[in-house]
Formats: sequence, C-alpha cells, structure tokens
Amino acid sequence: SYLDEIEKTNGELNAYVNVTGEEALKTAEAVDRKIASGEEIGMLEGVPMTLKDNISTKGIETTCCSKILTGYKPIYNATVWETLAGENAVMLGKTNMDEFAMGSSCETSYFGGAMNPFDSNYVSGGSSGGVASAVGANIAAYGLGSDTGGSIRQPASFCGIVGLKPTYGAVSRYGLIAYASSLDQIGPITKSVEDAAIVFDAISKRDEKDSTSKGFAGDTYSKLNNDIKGMKIGIAKEYLEGVRDDVKEAVLKAADIYKSMGAEIVYFDLPELKFALPVYYIIACAEASSNLGRYDGIRFGYKTEHYNGTHDMVCRTRSEGFGEEVKRRILLGTYVLSAGYYDAYYKKAQNLRGTIVKAFNNAFEKCDVILAPTVPMTAFEKGHAVSDPIETYLTDICTVPVNIAGLPGVSVPCGFNAKGMPIGMQLIGKSFGEAEILNAAYKYQ
Ligand code: GLN
Repeated sequence: SYLDEIEKTNGELNAYVNVTGEEALKTAEAVDRKIASGEEIGMLEGVPMTLKDNISTKGIETTCCSKILTGYKPIYNATVWETLAGENAVMLGKTNMDEFAMGSSCETSYFGGAMNPFDSNYVSGGSSGGVASAVGANIAAYGLGSDTGGSIRQPASFCGIVGLKPTYGAVSRYGLIAYASSLDQIGPITKSVEDAAIVFDAISKRDEKDSTSKGFAGDTYSKLNNDIKGMKIGIAKEYLEGVRDDVKEAVLKAADIYKSMGAEIVYFDLPELKFALPVYYIIACAEASSNLGRYDGIRFGYKTEHYNGTHDMVCRTRSEGFGEEVKRRILLGTYVLSAGYYDAYYKKAQNLRGTIVKAFNNAFEKCDVILAPTVPMTAFEKGHAVSDPIETYLTDICTVPVNIAGLPGVSVPCGFNAKGMPIGMQLIGKSFGEAEILNAAYKYQ
C-alpha cells in the first residue's frame, strides 16, 4: 500500500528520486512468511522506510541529488543501512535532498525540490527534504537523514514531524557521502518521538569503520515516559532573537506546559551564539571544498563528453556536474583555506568553535536540557530560499550551534501558524544525552 501511495502522490511531492519497489516487496514478503510461520519478528522488521540519497546503498544508485553522481552505484552499504537491512527493514527507495546536503529547502537538488505535505506551494525544507516530505505524507513510516547544520531538524520542523540529530559519534558515518565530516551526523526522521527512539537505538553503535564513532548512546526507548519533575529546562534569550512572533509564542507556550508538568524553567544568556553562523559556514565550506575534491570524472558518476586532455576533462566535468550552490561553497571553502586567508578565517573559526563548545558546557551546569526554536520561521514558499542564498544561510541560526558543539538535538512539532503550517521546537541535550531529550520530547508530544 505504501508503494501504491507513492505512485499516486510522488508526482506532486517529488519526495522519492528512486523507488526500489521490487526489492521492497521481496523483503516484505519474506517478513510476511516469517509472521505466517509463527516466528517472532523484531521492532523494525517489515517496516517500510526510506534513506536520504547520500547514504550509500550497495548496487542502488546514490546520487546526493547531484548531476556529478548520476549513475553512481556504491559497491558497499553504509553501516546504518547494513544494520537496518539486517533487521529486514523494507526500503521503499532513496529520497530527495539538496545537492550534497547544501541547502535549506531541498531546491538545490538536481531533480528539483521536494514539496511540503501540508501545502505543496511550500517547500519541505532541507537538506533532508525528501525524507521529511515522505514521512509527513505517510509514504514512508520513517527515514534516515543527515544533519550537518540542521538538515534533519529543519525539514522535520517544516513538515510537522520529529527529527533527531544525534551526538557526533553516536551513529556511524561510514558510507554517508561526506559534506562536512566534523559536523555530519545521521539520524532518524519519524512521525513520533517513540519511533525516533526505536530507530535511534537500532543505529547507534560503535563502528570500527568510522574512526570518529564513539559507541552506543541508545536504550532511549526504555527511558521514555520518565518523570520530568525537577528537570531544569534552559532558555537562552539569544535563541529567541530575530525569531518570528508566532514561533516564539509557540516555544514559550511549550515552556509553560513543561512548567505545569513540574519542570523548572531556567533563563540564561548565551552570547556566543552570535558566532555560530559564521563559524559554521566557514568550517562547513572548508571541509566541503576538500571532501568534494574527489569528484574528478574518473572515479565516480558523471564524466564530460568532449575534452582536451586530463586537466580539461576534470574542469569540464566539475563545471557541468556541480550545481550553483555547491560551486559557491567550494569557492568559499577554498578561499578560507588558502595560504593568505587561513589565519584570518579558518583558524579563527576553529578557535571560536572551542568557545562555543565551552559556552554550551557552562550552560549545562545551569540546566539539563535547552529549549529553543528549531527554525526562526515556518516553511518557505517555493522558490524563496534559492532566490537569496545569504538570507537563507541566516535562517540556520538555531540549528547550527548543536553541530558545532557535537551535541544531540531533537525537533518536535509545537503548533501551527495562522496559515496552518507547522512550527517546530528543539530540545538540545548534553553529549550522549539522547535519552534525556527524547524523554522530554515524549512527555510533551
Ligand atoms: N542548511 C544548512 C546548509 O546549507 C545545513 C545543511 C545540512 O545540515 N546538511 O549547510
């Protein structure tokens, strides 16, 4: 029935860029037989789901929604997919995203953007817009996205669903096609907090194939519904600056609800937040310019047709294969890493990254979790985000700090604006504090 529904709605939503129906049915039928024979099945067995198109799937095209990776079929599985496939997850297909996960509206995708299930005049958000669109529209029960600066939480917020960005190192990045390696993290996009906990527990584990993988942060599911009486929920005024009134109101109303459940609301200052956006865009672009150096027309995907020697072939392949936003970031990244500007930009950003980490450590001496908006507004209208990239970068203000500090953050729906579009709030936790934020989110939802 999910496949039938995809057939009906994907034309308008553009959530899936590749539907793998045949494989999905094979797995589903195998699980069916297991059930028929009375065998017990696991929590995720037979559940139809999707993967963002930057998560490597063996033998299945994985494009990062870029022309330069068209036709590329990985020869191995990402660890997260290896794990879920091992549990007989039914993958319905690969979902749309901003090209190489660079964007906030899914519209930098080579295949065009994925639309918002609430109203298709609005975008689903980005970069994991396809997963959020699919889960929001019930054409996947859950999905895995990646979050470098908000790409799980922001689309979840725009589509009225739940998105968890885990602690850096809690989930293996092996097989996730890199955007900015020190910030990237895979996590679940789901309908409910309960689902997020189940999926997170399944994928969070130490993986020898990822040197930055730290280990299990899971067992969050069994801790849902713990009492939150006395829990200190922190609000930093800087997170509310420049945030649209309806979003601010919804978040503060959630704080009141927490208070009525016995939590204590603690107000504090986080002035270092103003460094987060420039630090993020310098570090992310720097790492991207290095990571994307590998697309040379020889090893992966697309290769230009007419060329004059190797140098010309690489230049033409990259000029034709990458979209505008990706080129902008490669140029920015190359600039901040260049000999003359390294100290002025990249080094400074790295130092400030340390300052932001310390600021969060201090904040967590005053509270257990931080409550903030996920995005300062609701979903953008179609075309808006790509018309002014700098203005769009600014809307990442509430999501990027968590990636810079490597902390977990979950976005949960907390209301609607006057036009009926969903609003999301974010709960931020200490390192490996997933159980705490998911529990707080569960209590609210
Ligand atoms: N919107 C942010 C960016 O364009 C975040 C993207 C992401 O998390 N992958 O970089």
